Amino acid sequence: MARITLDHLAHAYKADPRKPDDYALKEINHVWSQGGAYALLGPSGCGKTTLLNIISGLVRPTRGRVLFDDLDVTDLPTEARNIAQVFQFPVVYDTMSVRENLAFPLKNRHVPRDRTAQRVEEIARLLDLTRVLDRKASNLTADMKQKISLGRGLVRPDVAAILFDEPLTVIDPHLKWQLRSTLKEIHRALDITMIYVTHDQTEALTFADKVVVMHDGAVVQTGTPDELFERPAHTFVGHFIGSPGMNILPCKVEGATAFVGNEAIRLERIYRPLADGERVELGIRPEFVRLQPKGSGLPVSVRRIDDIGRARIARVEMGGRPLAASVPDGLSIEGSEAALALDPRHIHIYADGHLVSGELI
Ligand code: ADP
Ligand code: MG
Repeated sequence: MARITLDHLAHAYKADPRKPDDYALKEINHVWSQGGAYALLGPSGCGKTTLLNIISGLVRPTRGRVLFDDLDVTDLPTEARNIAQVFQFPVVYDTMSVRENLAFPLKNRHVPRDRTAQRVEEIARLLDLTRVLDRKASNLTADMKQKISLGRGLVRPDVAAILFDEPLTVIDPHLKWQLRSTLKEIHRALDITMIYVTHDQTEALTFADKVVVMHDGAVVQTGTPDELFERPAHTFVGHFIGSPGMNILPCKVEGATAFVGNEAIRLERIYRPLADGERVELGIRPEFVRLQPKGSGLPVSVRRIDDIGRARIARVEMGGRPLAASVPDGLSIEGSEAALALDPRHIHIYADGHLVSGELI
């Protein structure tokens, strides 16, 4: 097991690495502590798979180093890195039984036979594969094959880390949530560093103690699910996490007041002077914006109201900009004109996309 350090890591697949746009990974500095359950979350194409393949050694980075504890592994081949990796699609040997498939990663590692047998049984039990252990892998469904791939990733007890690359892609939706919590339990039982790549925030937030959010080849924030929700460090994180995501409104800030158009909004913090040229925005989650009758706050027009189970969410518009707000129980709005009240404790200010820290009044 190991602490994994990425030091000034950058990667370009294309021919001309001097062009910044050609970089799939821009400049990544990051440390994963030993034993944690981590998610690497970001939209498709942001560089997650590239990063994972650099950690496992399938891709050699254009610049920067990868360290396992204090050992520089950048130039070591995959086989020498002691890493297990589970991919999006099943990797199983069709001619072998499930038992042989699960035992395979232990076979060439001088693990005694009885220890191998015991470990295979243990992993099969965790993944609910016991009853198919003696079946040929070729006769099984894609779901089952992917479970075997997961098992093959989990079977070696001595790995530095296990990397999962969107491992539930082929899993049937109704089985997904169950496997997600199974993986979480397995992490608790095995105490191995696990990095779980996904573009799905629900998957990331249920699996991980800490989530690393990537955007456009860079890490934009690392935090617990609560931290990402309560204090997004970047407007991208606010927008990407949460459903619906954070409302973002262009504004001007003077001391402890934000001006959205002509409307003054009281803030709880005083901010450094934010220059006119800076793109300043106010961010607030729909949970902390209340829809009210017109004349009592920021004027908006209501487009529609969605019932999302626990709450009602209003889709509104202000100056052509779509926003989301919570609808209090019992509120009824005549026509489309309404207003918004913003809870000042949950307002964040961003300059050029980055969270600005202010001083409490
Ligand atoms: P993700 O896993 O987050 O979807 P990837 O790491 O697969 O992102 O891709 C990041 C970027 O690198 C994308 O723009 C993708 O098109 C590009 N890319 C990925 N693999 C290759 C490759 N083998 N050759 C060229 N470009 C690639
Ligand atoms: Mg990918």
